[in-house]
Amino acid sequence: MLRKTFLLLAVAFAAAPLAAQTEHCMAHTITQRHLQAQGLSTDLASAMAQVPRGSVRGGVQTVPVVVHVVWNTAAENIPDASINQMVAQLNLDYQQQNTDLSQVRAAFTGVIGNVGFAFCLASLDPNGNATTGITRTQTTETWFDPDTETDDMKSPPKGITAWDPDSYLNIWVCDITSGATGGTVTVGYAYLPTGGVVGSNIDGFVIDYDYGFGTGERTATHEIGHYFGLLHPFDNNNCTNADGFADTPTTDSPTFSCSNTTLQKCGVLTQYENFMDYASCSVMFTDQQSASMAGVLNGTCQPAQQ
Ligand SMILES: [Zn+2]
Repeated sequence: MLRKTFLLLAVAFAAAPLAAQTEHCMAHTITQRHLQAQGLSTDLASAMAQVPRGSVRGGVQTVPVVVHVVWNTAAENIPDASINQMVAQLNLDYQQQNTDLSQVRAAFTGVIGNVGFAFCLASLDPNGNATTGITRTQTTETWFDPDTETDDMKSPPKGITAWDPDSYLNIWVCDITSGATGGTVTVGYAYLPTGGVVGSNIDGFVIDYDYGFGTGERTATHEIGHYFGLLHPFDNNNCTNADGFADTPTTDSPTFSCSNTTLQKCGVLTQYENFMDYASCSVMFTDQQSASMAGVLNGTCQPAQQ
């Protein structure tokens, strides 16, 4: 999950104005919870090492997307334009075309990767009927608590069942923030492709209707990175190679600010530009991250359509 601090927190700590942009992700937490419930090891690094990257998701480089808007108030029933904007940003980010790539420091321009995925709203539903790739479901649920109602939007009576997860990337848009208490809100979350998630009815990405659609918002880019098997570079909380990639420098903690351009962690320049870190200036995947994601997608499942 990505989490962002409440604005109230930023007010309380006015000396730290960047707090409002702070992001905390809990993809780890929900995936480990899912593994634990099945009596499996919660060692994610080991679990991901066993994932057959060549066969777990999809079949071609085009990713058919269905967006399920599960709404209670009119504001939560977001317009098509917002969804189109999210998909457009995904296409820029996953095809190395985002304009803010120019912000990458010289030390890392040589390892910028092109994932090469094209996201498109589905044009055919699972029954072969024409669709906009957007469904809209009214719910009596005023908000979904990410901790206790993690998957409740993914089935009736509160939500809508996924379209075949082997053929579509399912994205649920709903309110996962308004009832939150404490210092952080969860902006979005996705499961890693392990522990029986792939193809199951919980597979996909959940994003808040409000926080997740702001200008420059990269929640979808980050969480869909998890969906395609990427770990955070800092997940081990020590100076070991947590994500398995040589072109994401070793780091022992997330980086939130991009103000220190010479910031070192574990004795090396930290790549805070990476989409899988938490910084507000994240703008890139690396070559090895891109190759890994492409391996996850290049599988045996034939998408229903493109
Ligand atoms: Zn994350």
